[in-house]
Amino acid sequence: MNKTTEKPKGKGLLSQHPFWLGKYCLLNIIIFAIGSITIIYWDNPFKSVSFWWILSLIPLFLNRFRFIAGGSILLAAIALIYYWTEISWLYLLFLPAAIYIGHLTAVCIHNAVHNNFKPVWINPVIGELCALQQISAGFPVFRLVHNQHHAYSDDPIKDPHPPKGYSFWQFVDNSRALITNRLTAIYLENWGDSEKSRNTWKIQTGLLLCMRFAKTLFIFVLLGPKLFVLLFIPSYLSNVFLFAAFNYFTHIENKDGTTDILNLDSNLYYAICNRILFGVFYHKNHHLKPKLFNPMAMQAKN
Ligand SMILES: [Zn+2]
Ligand SMILES: [Zn+2]
Repeated sequence: MNKTTEKPKGKGLLSQHPFWLGKYCLLNIIIFAIGSITIIYWDNPFKSVSFWWILSLIPLFLNRFRFIAGGSILLAAIALIYYWTEISWLYLLFLPAAIYIGHLTAVCIHNAVHNNFKPVWINPVIGELCALQQISAGFPVFRLVHNQHHAYSDDPIKDPHPPKGYSFWQFVDNSRALITNRLTAIYLENWGDSEKSRNTWKIQTGLLLCMRFAKTLFIFVLLGPKLFVLLFIPSYLSNVFLFAAFNYFTHIENKDGTTDILNLDSNLYYAICNRILFGVFYHKNHHLKPKLFNPMAMQAKN
């Protein structure tokens, strides 16, 4: 498998300043806190609904996909009962659209990392909007992680999310921890493995969690509990699923222990995704030519 020779751009993020990530998280926390306060001041969503709906944020911060999905299903059932008379049949149309958007933001943030949108300045804008839908650590962090993935694909240490040795659902559950561990290692490589570095990093990962909470709260007050539970959460889950699916199934381990990157189009899910999501499962092509917006357009053999 020819791997891309693309240099891992963005690694410098964590070497620019020992508190770079912390400052980025603080800026985001301020922006989304101001956004949430403005919305609450403008049109307080808790005026007409119970404050207890705030508990619907909890499942998104659980550590296992099955807990997140289980909590989300429970919430959806409660919301359906509570809002039964208000839910239009149009919801049946909006739900597939929400799931599609969850998939689409994975494709868009991925292309934004490779500057595949034009003009170039729009890439971080699209990337941050996608990162908001994904309630993630943000576009610069995604760019760092993804460029490391391209430079060190399937390296058990340097690839931030190597699937080797995991079942699919183990991979879904462990992806975030794998990425955090790799970011920690990069940070300690840059700033030295000392108690001071570890403490500074710990504060920043704490701020990262607060930033994710600030983003989630912003979306909650923006949409209100009904749309948050019945549309946003399915959209979020569909994004987690797609990321895990293409990172897992397109990077396979052969019987002799070597690894390969595949183009996948062999089942209905892959085929539909490739056609409505710009060839997202043509991942081998993507690794060969990351600048192609739609890697399905490239001719390559599996
Ligand atoms: Zn890959
Ligand atoms: Zn890529």
